[in-house]
Amino acid sequence: MFITRKAEFSASHLCRVSTLSDEQNRKLFGEEANANGHGHNYVLEITVEGDPDPVTGMIIDLKELKDIIEDEVTGPMDHRFLNYEVEPFSRVVPTAPNVAREIWRRMEKRLSGRGAELAKVRLFETPDLYVDVTREDVSV
Ligand SMILES: [Zn+2]
Repeated sequence: MFITRKAEFSASHLCRVSTLSDEQNRKLFGEEANANGHGHNYVLEITVEGDPDPVTGMIIDLKELKDIIEDEVTGPMDHRFLNYEVEPFSRVVPTAPNVAREIWRRMEKRLSGRGAELAKVRLFETPDLYVDVTREDVSV
C-alpha cells in the first residue's frame, strides 16, 4: 500500500549553467535564468510504501514522517534562495527535477531501514508542472 504526505515550501532559485554565456542561459532557461532569481510555492508529496502493521494499522508513523519532511526539506528550504543557501545547489542547477532528486536523497537517507520504504517524491514547481522521482531515477 502507498501512503502520501503533502507539504509546501516557498523558495527562490535561478537556473543557469555557469559555463554558458548569459545569452545561452537565457535561450536555455528563459525567465528562469534571470540573475535576480524568482520564487516558487513548491508543493511536495512524499509517498511511502509498506504494509500496515497488524496491530497499529499504520504503514509508518505519520507524525514521524512529518517531522522528517520538516527536518530534511521544509526546514532547510522554506524561504531560502536555493542556489545560495541550500546544497548542492551552489553547483547543481536547481531545476524541478534536480530539487526533487535532492529531496529523494534526503528523505531516503532518513527512511531507509524501516518497514516502510520511500516510493515516490512528487514535486510541483507550479500548479501545472510536477516531477516524479522514484528509486530508479536515483543511482548516485
Ligand atoms: Zn523557477
